[in-house]
Amino acid sequence: MTEKADLQSVLDRAAAGGRITPEEALVLYRDAPLHALGAAADAVRRRKYAGIEHIATYIIERNINYTNVCVTACKFCAFYAAPKDTEKGWTRDLDDILRRCAETVELGGTQIMFQGGHHPDYGVEYYEKHFKAIKDAFPQLVIHSLGASEVEHMARISGVSVEEAITRIHEAGLDSFAGAGAELLPERPRKAIAPLKESGERWLEIMETAHRLGVESTSTMLMGTGETNAERIEHLRMIRDVQDRTGGFRAFIPYTYQPENNHLKGRTQATLFEYLRMIAIARLFLDNVQHIQGSWLTTGKEVGQLSLHYGADDLGSIMLEENVVSSAGARHRSNRLEIIDLIRKAGRVPAQRATTYEHLVVHDDPANDPVDDRVVSHISSTAIEGGTAHPELKLLASN
Ligand code: SF4
Repeated sequence: MTEKADLQSVLDRAAAGGRITPEEALVLYRDAPLHALGAAADAVRRRKYAGIEHIATYIIERNINYTNVCVTACKFCAFYAAPKDTEKGWTRDLDDILRRCAETVELGGTQIMFQGGHHPDYGVEYYEKHFKAIKDAFPQLVIHSLGASEVEHMARISGVSVEEAITRIHEAGLDSFAGAGAELLPERPRKAIAPLKESGERWLEIMETAHRLGVESTSTMLMGTGETNAERIEHLRMIRDVQDRTGGFRAFIPYTYQPENNHLKGRTQATLFEYLRMIAIARLFLDNVQHIQGSWLTTGKEVGQLSLHYGADDLGSIMLEENVVSSAGARHRSNRLEIIDLIRKAGRVPAQRATTYEHLVVHDDPANDPVDDRVVSHISSTAIEGGTAHPELKLLASN
């Protein structure tokens, strides 16, 4: 049998729903024709969503960055300030956070992504206090936030186990983990970009613990900081192995590294074709993960739209505020009507979803589209302005 025939038979098996090995995934990722890879991934998506395969989803949420002060100093990060850098560092007070939550509710947002640096003083108590205050004031908001890195940090600051940290913040109001901090899980590329972060194995161990304690999560991947194709596939393998045991990863969200204002400046970003190939191979390889999200904040709306033909079922969030990847150069922006439009032009029916992916509003009739002029895309300047509130309500689409 020729190599070409081998490749086609693996692709056919994957498209039919058969499990593929990491070695096979690497061959497909590297060598399969782009359109054939996308067609196979789309076939899997259609089968997984039989009956609702015509729908693609988005969510409205707000990133609330509570501080940029961080002791972890990841080399790819343009957002953080070292604790001694009092000029750049800032924290946001509880009143400011609650005001941002109120604005989110007012604009129809359903989810809060609480995201920030590893502040040297912020232990479990800090998160308990803030999550409880948010839930007391806005019980309708879902707190989908943080990840294993924050749990590791807060547990260390408070001198408790990660089990206790997860249990306490869950009881205080955290609904699910956003999967932040996964970056690249294999050791070599992780050490190269985030040498002070916990290992990839530890990241997965903490997420597995969370899943066991009833806190589900999403999973992410940062592409384009110099990792090899084999390391990208190894990242997927590590997630799939945990998912086989827990089933707690709701989604996989790859996004591309943004090269501005950080210590890795100058390194190559992943190409858009590599990104689409990753969406497709994730759909084929992660046969146990339900949702694959196209992240168009870092790749652009057209690529986000294309991702819907390469296995993605969701375009993530229209975000009231985002400071982290925009600090590193992400400049793509949109608003709800644009997202609805681009989903329609991809041949799908748009639907606003909840954090747990139930459809809240299905936009099946353009005559009933929302008319909301305040939902204007913009990159928030809150991080740059040192924590002062932005004067307008701005929406930025992001993952
Ligand atoms: S990515 Fe997160 S942990 Fe790393 S330096 Fe930035 S804020 Fe800190």
